[in-house]
Amino acid sequence: MVPDGTFLLTHGSPESFDLRRDRDGVACLDIDIGAAGIIDRVTASGTTSPPSDVPVVAMRGRQVWPGFIDAHAHIDKSHTWGRAPNPDGTLLGARGAAKHDRVRRWDYDEVYRRMDFALRAAFVHGTVAVRTHLDSQEGRTEPCWPAFLALREAWADRIVLQGTLTLGIAKLIGPWGDKVADWAAEHGLRLGPVVYDGPEAGMQIDRAFELAETRGLELDFHVDETDDPQADGLTRIADAVLARNFEGRVLCSHASSLARRSETAARETIAKVAAARIGIISLPMTNVYLQDRDPVATPRWRGITLLRELKAAGVAIALAGDNVRDAFHPYGDHDLIDVFRDAVRLGHLDLPIGDWPRAVTSIPAGMMGLARRGLISAGAAADLVIFEGRDYTEVLARHGRGRIVLRAGREIIETLPDYRELDEAT
Ligand SMILES: [Zn+2]
Repeated sequence: MVPDGTFLLTHGSPESFDLRRDRDGVACLDIDIGAAGIIDRVTASGTTSPPSDVPVVAMRGRQVWPGFIDAHAHIDKSHTWGRAPNPDGTLLGARGAAKHDRVRRWDYDEVYRRMDFALRAAFVHGTVAVRTHLDSQEGRTEPCWPAFLALREAWADRIVLQGTLTLGIAKLIGPWGDKVADWAAEHGLRLGPVVYDGPEAGMQIDRAFELAETRGLELDFHVDETDDPQADGLTRIADAVLARNFEGRVLCSHASSLARRSETAARETIAKVAAARIGIISLPMTNVYLQDRDPVATPRWRGITLLRELKAAGVAIALAGDNVRDAFHPYGDHDLIDVFRDAVRLGHLDLPIGDWPRAVTSIPAGMMGLARRGLISAGAAADLVIFEGRDYTEVLARHGRGRIVLRAGREIIETLPDYRELDEAT
């Protein structure tokens, strides 16, 4: 049983076969895997029969997903909550705690160990590609930039690790902006401005586009991570893409304030985002944790962007993990099923769930420029996640427990790393 939109039939379209589906659109398929671990054929269940010498595994109704793609993580900060908790649960509190920790505790080995731990957890959960943001303000590039390069190489045969150099957009003004953009170009990374609302925003966004245009970089923004309805960085970015005919890929993460704007203003912004072909990445776990935080009051909004409206307008949407066990979000385990479950409930992405699983598989694969990833199709490696659960309630109720992760057709033997490995020698 394969989620809608996460597979390509080898011959013909899903319509031509009148696939057997459940009420959420999950399709019943046969997947033929060759000896080299490459998918040979994806067909409607029961329409073909394998040669007699090929072993057949009856899945007994289990859901099978392509390997997950996490398009937005911060593994440089992961697993620091224990020593640097958020004092008040706000975004500002998180920034302060993260800075304090970075200054006092981070060195190459310490950072490498946490980032590696994060990738090991992601791998065991079935993730095949991760893009991490890397703090890139002046004076903050060590030890994370070199640690990232080393990890990208060390993990190359198991996880595609991509990086975005991320910093407050004001810091791009002046020579440091050129330095960051040059380093991104040199190492195949993206430029990741964090946009804040204010009178300078237009000028700052122009600077980001200039830096990207002169070097052929993609732009991977954080924007509008706030409940302030006046914050409209997303509109400004869409305007800039359209005015400049910018040809590189542009991704915008969070876009939370879109959900706080008037119907008319939101509709106009969504139309521009669609026209500019901007991809939106939503980070539901961090949003629900940080947004609408108050010392005593219960939160009254969910913090997420207008997922359903954006999708209806044809905008590509990914769901991603963002922060894990750090001051921005003390929970999570680099598991896209965790993210997907939160997103389904917070965003009402069900009745039916339909092709929303694309938001943690094929759509972020496209955003990351990874052909053949996040999709079950002939010619792709059999990187699959096989769940015990047979429908979404069974899969999501137990957080996908009992899953079997295949890489190139073989079950991985690794297990989740032990938190004790992160205990520091004293
Ligand atoms: Zn982020």
